[in-house]
Amino acid sequence: MNLTVIGTGYVGLVTGTCFAEMGHHVTCVDVDQRKIDNLNKGILPIYEPGLDAMVEHNARDGRLAFTSSLPEAMRSSDVYFIAVGTPPGEDGSADLQYVLAVAREIGAHLDRYALVVDKSTVPVGTAEQVRAAIDSELEHRNVRVDFDVVSNPEFLKEGAAINDFMKPDRIVVGAESERAIDLMRALYADFTRSHDRLLVMGVRDAEMTKYVANAMLATKISFMNEVANLCDRMGVDVENVRTGIGSDSRIGYSFIYPGCGYGGSCFPKDVKALIRMAGNHDFVPAVLEAVEARNEQQKGYLFEKIRAHYGPDLSGRRFALWGLAFKPGTDDMREAASKVLLRQLIDAGASVRAYDPIAMDVARDELPAEWFGDGRLTLVDNQYDALRDADALALVTEWKPFRHPDFDAMRRLMRPDPAIFDGRNQYQPENMQSDGFVYYGVGR
Ligand code: NAD
Repeated sequence: MNLTVIGTGYVGLVTGTCFAEMGHHVTCVDVDQRKIDNLNKGILPIYEPGLDAMVEHNARDGRLAFTSSLPEAMRSSDVYFIAVGTPPGEDGSADLQYVLAVAREIGAHLDRYALVVDKSTVPVGTAEQVRAAIDSELEHRNVRVDFDVVSNPEFLKEGAAINDFMKPDRIVVGAESERAIDLMRALYADFTRSHDRLLVMGVRDAEMTKYVANAMLATKISFMNEVANLCDRMGVDVENVRTGIGSDSRIGYSFIYPGCGYGGSCFPKDVKALIRMAGNHDFVPAVLEAVEARNEQQKGYLFEKIRAHYGPDLSGRRFALWGLAFKPGTDDMREAASKVLLRQLIDAGASVRAYDPIAMDVARDELPAEWFGDGRLTLVDNQYDALRDADALALVTEWKPFRHPDFDAMRRLMRPDPAIFDGRNQYQPENMQSDGFVYYGVGR
């Protein structure tokens, strides 16, 4: 089939590339001309393991093309995936301006049957708005063309996106027409060969499913962070509690790791948007509000421990910060806990040397220029360089190279009485003590 994917971010680029890998002809469209020019030169706008090689060979073999012109892509396409951003608006609701702009542009050029697929995470009722936006353009042009709008939310994880797309746990399709359902089945047949993982449901049900999946995962994390904070006060090691409860098959081990809060482009914004949707229906989502509030507090938890250790004035103190991305495996720093800690440290007068295996370029672009200008923040090229002359290390992202560092070398690089503030419980408290560090984890 000839497919168009609109938006070349984490979701759009992975979706387009994986469909091309399965032999479809895919055109990826983005309004950002620089991204398109770079993609045409083989330079990717995002880091995602394995994606560059896949883009390269599919583009070379003529199955994957990039353009900033949607009308050009539409000349040869039957299916349109909308994969543009849906960032939080000021009131927390998902901002649909990009999705609806795409819908209007599709309506302005549609001349034969098309399947329009909402892949972006969008509030319940958006498919109806997309349909209305296309209809109104068609009406304006005085053209009658049949089309379907389906909801097909994406569940990939950054850092494992290709595997998640190629071998999904499930594919959720919200559709009303048989024609649309048949097309979606045909499109995804290659991804569900071993057993049928395609779940067909109502459009609104599919839209809701995406939010509830993310809200459930965020709830598990916030619940466990709350437990960890309690353990901190009660002389209990939350890591023992974690394995103690995870071994119960009804609970399981995933998403019960305590830490310094969840970030990323999805959990924070999707929990907020679901709260907003509830508000629109005069419903108070008490659990979700608590999930969000706990996470906001949790992002400040390491700093609370730092302040308790050193006092409120950190002038003259130097910190090493390991991990800037919101999680390992990605360069994405949207809503990252690292940003909150950096601001708190710098506001309290400290200076920071920070390192991340992948997110350094993104950090240079995203962090306030004045932090670099006055030397409060320095980005360094390796994890040990960050430790030079530091009072303490704050570990914020659990990248694998931080797992087993050379603690002797670390102690030699750092100032006397070094401390480690471990925001992801990567180290054993007893070992840290015997290695000569004052150690703070989360909930232990
Ligand atoms: P992103 O910000 O990385 O990419 C969005 C892209 O859309 C940008 O390149 C932007 O230039 C482009 N764009 C905006 N308006 C456009 C237009 N009118 N025409 C063409 N291109 C346009 O976003 P993302 O992280 O890929 O997320 C996209 C959607 O998928 C969001 O709704 C998000 O919630 C959802 N989602 C994201 C993930 C994830 O892990 N990132 C996972 C599942 C679902």
